[in-house]
Amino acid sequence: MPMSPLMKPVNLPAGKLLINGQWRDSVSGKQFATVNPANAEEICQIAEADAADVDLAVQAARDAFEIGPWRKMAATERSKLLNRLAALMEKNLEELAVLEALDNGKPYFTAKAVDVPLAIACFRYFAGWADKIQGRTIPINGNYFCYTRHEPVGVVGQIIPWNFPLLMLAWKLAPALATGNTIVMKPAEQTPLTALRVAELITEAGFPDGVVNMLPGFGPTAGAAIASHMDIDKVAFTGSTAVGRLVMQAAAQSNLKRVSLELGGKSPNIVFADADMDAAIEGSHFALFFNQGQSCCAGSRTFVDEKVYDEFVERSVARAKKRRVGDPFSPRTEQGPLIDSDQFEKVLAYVEAGKREGARLAAGGSRRDEPGFFMEPTVFADVTDTMTIAQEEIFGPVMSIIKFSSLDEVVQRANRTMYGLAAAVWTRDIGKAHAIANGVRAGTVWVNCYNVLDAAAPFGGFKQSGNGRELGEYGLEQYTEVKTVTVKL
Ligand code: NAP
Ligand code: MG
Repeated sequence: MPMSPLMKPVNLPAGKLLINGQWRDSVSGKQFATVNPANAEEICQIAEADAADVDLAVQAARDAFEIGPWRKMAATERSKLLNRLAALMEKNLEELAVLEALDNGKPYFTAKAVDVPLAIACFRYFAGWADKIQGRTIPINGNYFCYTRHEPVGVVGQIIPWNFPLLMLAWKLAPALATGNTIVMKPAEQTPLTALRVAELITEAGFPDGVVNMLPGFGPTAGAAIASHMDIDKVAFTGSTAVGRLVMQAAAQSNLKRVSLELGGKSPNIVFADADMDAAIEGSHFALFFNQGQSCCAGSRTFVDEKVYDEFVERSVARAKKRRVGDPFSPRTEQGPLIDSDQFEKVLAYVEAGKREGARLAAGGSRRDEPGFFMEPTVFADVTDTMTIAQEEIFGPVMSIIKFSSLDEVVQRANRTMYGLAAAVWTRDIGKAHAIANGVRAGTVWVNCYNVLDAAAPFGGFKQSGNGRELGEYGLEQYTEVKTVTVKL
């Protein structure tokens, strides 16, 4: 296995599918390679799930839901299992961070400080909810006793992306398990390693067989089989808006399974002239470049007040040029490689579009001369609203700085997009801060900060950034059905 000389040695999880508590090869016997984006070389082979494996996993999840011990288990026991899983992840924190950095290319020290701890916190947060899922008693007309129960939806399909493999897994698994569902999960084909390692820890924690089934594989095969399955009650998807549309269509054309979607974004990050400029420049840099720019909530439209525009551009360009790109296992590295060659080509094509359409390339713009998928931190100034780079999700380290002159104008322009995932405002004026917070149509608004995510705070999109909310108390709704019981007295 090729790896960085700075990487701590790690055991790779067996590249098999977890179905009904058993590690097995795929029915077809097919395998695929997972690749290290830092050198474009294969890490190992992984069993490739397809429709036949999805069928087996759904049957296992159905049995686990209807006849296994899971359904009858006390809620406090579910809570204990989730806490035990969190403790096992904590015990293996460094190993999980190594696997995440190896498979995804993100800096190891970020994975260790952010991705893995946030995933653990998510399991702990929802462990706390497991025995607090409760309905109401309702005083209806007549001599009746009426109450509601919040029951699990049933067998849940979960399809996740490669940009935050472990965190997206936690956001999906933790609330679904806390509320008593059973799961068939497909991690992204680029990043199966931490999902497989967590699946090992799930069996070690003592979850009953079939409660969590882990099926690495490809979207158009395994993913589509989940979305269109007749015996899956709900599908939760995180990924692109285009594939989200396919998942919803598949649900509509099969069994009308419930669908929740966390999709793309083109989030406005608005900087007023009265902001703390040091904080706004560093915060806007972080908003866009965090995770190599491969973040659904990236602040990818940087709107800057005309009064401070030139200063902001100059200092943001200087900051981007200082950004340290390199080996994900070096403690100095701020930015690792992009995930794969497809994503790389897509980002480079957006850079070309920016140049062609007249934006001013002020930093970066090219591939670095290395075998991995390393891209220079890139900044475009003088971007206008109609340019492709201001409209489409780039999902890479490309900042687009746009000028504005008034509050009302910037709210309107910020909202002129099909997306509505996140937004931010930098200002010392509380009136402006709330005007932006109320005026932008987005699921999350940050004031004088960015990328602050917590398991207790709901996250999700307006408009074509998705539907439903994950995390927090709101996230429980995704995984429960309300049952009304009426008793004649
Ligand atoms: P993607 O192509 O939509 O893939 C996401 C997942 O869907 C992967 O597991 C993929 O499998 C699977 N998939 C692909 N085609 C499918 C199909 N026909 N039926 C069912 N599943 C299918 O997205 P991506 O390129 O991996 O990730 C980047 C996108 O995700 C960006 O647009 C980003 O904004 C979005 N994202 C959103 C959030 C959020 O919370 N809103 C978070 C992270 C990412 P493969 O492994 O084969 O690709
Ligand atoms: Mg990989």
